Amino acid sequence: MKEERMERENRQETAVAAVAAFYRGFDPEAYLKYNYTPPRADFSRSDSIVPWKLNCLHKAFKEDAIKGDILVDIGSGPTLYQVMSGCEHFNRVILSDFLEVNRSELKKWLKDGQSNFDWTPYLKHVCELEGRSSSAWQEKAERLRSVVTDIFPVNVHHPFPFPPGSLPASSADCLVSSFCLESVSPDISSFTQALRNLSSLLRSGGYLLLIGALGESFYMAAPDVRIPVVPLDEAQVCASLSVTGFDLLQLSVYRLIPDMLVGVDDVKGVFFAKARKP
Ligand code: SAM
Repeated sequence: MKEERMERENRQETAVAAVAAFYRGFDPEAYLKYNYTPPRADFSRSDSIVPWKLNCLHKAFKEDAIKGDILVDIGSGPTLYQVMSGCEHFNRVILSDFLEVNRSELKKWLKDGQSNFDWTPYLKHVCELEGRSSSAWQEKAERLRSVVTDIFPVNVHHPFPFPPGSLPASSADCLVSSFCLESVSPDISSFTQALRNLSSLLRSGGYLLLIGALGESFYMAAPDVRIPVVPLDEAQVCASLSVTGFDLLQLSVYRLIPDMLVGVDDVKGVFFAKARKP
């Protein structure tokens, strides 16, 4: 019995390590270009993916008045869009990624303002969602720069995903995570375990805003780096949230339209889940 369990755990560890190895080739610049430029980020269209995601996040913070001290984003990658609404509602925002290249890309924009990627259209769009003039984007940029206090290394496959001593357990008031868990897990049980691990960061009563890919089996993280993804369906997302103890409050789905398929993945849809830790 014990041997069987150890064998299963060893197999799981090997599978997780195999996925991690793909990430050695992750190129932040290519990833941003593939996913965060038009047509996927076309702010003149309401059927483009990025405006859909920004709208989901904006509505969640507004309608549920989600606010508090600490907002934590898990697996930020080189992107900042996912905290552009939340940064107005929390005193402190913590970003995180597994890869130093991504943490350093985030730092370039946050600390030195020297990123090659232009987040201005995103900042303007979120200002408009908030009923402010798009010219308020600089205030939002300043707000974001002032509330992000840390960019931590993270590994969602560890029972406590942050480095020891970086943040007390259960201290986040809200967790955001986008396109991370399914693209770093070898299978659905590992995805579910990663979700359970995230939960250790969140306080009781805190919110989880989870965005992810549906029906995706791979994505390109550089011209020649193809990263495997667990192809999820809506029922699996709901089941994983339920078995890890979250109360699901909302599940919205965006189905990809043909011109969003730009040859960098085989994603079929995107889900947005709003859940609460009891
Ligand atoms: N959140 C960003 C977004 O919305 O586009 C990036 C998502 S990207 C598909 C997946 C991210 O997970 C990458 O930035 C990668 O470095 C990170 N990652 C890889 N392995 C990880 C792990 N074991 N734990 C946490 N994050 C990991």
